[in-house]
Amino acid sequence: MRIAILSRNDNLYSTRRLIEAAELRGHQVDLIDTLHCYMDITSNHPKVRYHGEALPKYDAVIPRIGASITFYGTAVVRQFEMMNTYCVNTSDAISRSRDKLRSLQLLSQKGIGLPRTGYANKPDKIQDVIKTIGGAPLVIKLLEGTQGIGVVLAETNKAAESVMEAFMGLKANILVQEFIKEANGADIRCLVVGDQVVAAMKRQAAEGEFRSNLHRGGSAMLVELSAEEKATAIHSAKAMGLNLCGVDILQSSRGPVVMEVNSSPGLEGIEGATGKDVAGMVIDFIEKQVIAHDDEGL
Ligand code: ADP
Ligand code: MG
Repeated sequence: MRIAILSRNDNLYSTRRLIEAAELRGHQVDLIDTLHCYMDITSNHPKVRYHGEALPKYDAVIPRIGASITFYGTAVVRQFEMMNTYCVNTSDAISRSRDKLRSLQLLSQKGIGLPRTGYANKPDKIQDVIKTIGGAPLVIKLLEGTQGIGVVLAETNKAAESVMEAFMGLKANILVQEFIKEANGADIRCLVVGDQVVAAMKRQAAEGEFRSNLHRGGSAMLVELSAEEKATAIHSAKAMGLNLCGVDILQSSRGPVVMEVNSSPGLEGIEGATGKDVAGMVIDFIEKQVIAHDDEGL
């Protein structure tokens, strides 16, 4: 197969591993810098151009779209879709996953366990939102934050109110969430490929920190998933329409609750913690999907 990996950087662990796994299986891989692609949007002959030439017809595209380039990145992925190229994650699914509120709304409709979450636009509704969620302690989050930045724990209703007022004053979109205290600063990252959890790790926050992000000093370890946790991760990926994603789960006293679904999950932490060849499993999955995709097109 001829595969394109859309990524900004070939030094990233995940990109390098995907290239390695694809080449090991005899595929030809091009690393394409997403921001250097441009589009020829002509009737019946859509093309993606790159450094002055039209890109060839790929059998598969693996989008690794960073959160800071979602708009342009999803436009590039959509253009490949217009050329009937198989994309592991579709542009629509990537856009959906980038907005925490939209993701939670979709997951809630499917009955997936979630931390109780509120959203409001006007400061005069803050007290009622806090009351609805059950009062402090509460977690307040920016809708488009990543790596734990923009996630705040408010220990009292007063603190929650002033943090929300401050964010709203800055015109930032925020949501308020029940704090899952019993998670003890840990969460579970489930890596889903197709309809399977291929690897999972537990991330434990650093001492004195409630955010378990590895970027915030969290540490990763192996974890055995319960059947309910596995099913939650698989249903979440399906609800979001993502073939490749990281589903982050908190272990609450009422069972697994989903915090977010990441459409460009990093491979370094999870391959390190589990010793699994996740990149290889991604390429194996793509091989099967491309055969099915081509059959459909005949
Ligand atoms: P980001 O997209 O920045 O990673 P998250 O929503 O994943 O934001 O939150 C970052 C971390 O904060 C999580 O990995 C988790 O450890 C902690 N956290 C987030 N929401 C809650 C919550 N409702 N209850 C307990 N801990 C939470
Ligand atoms: Mg997170």
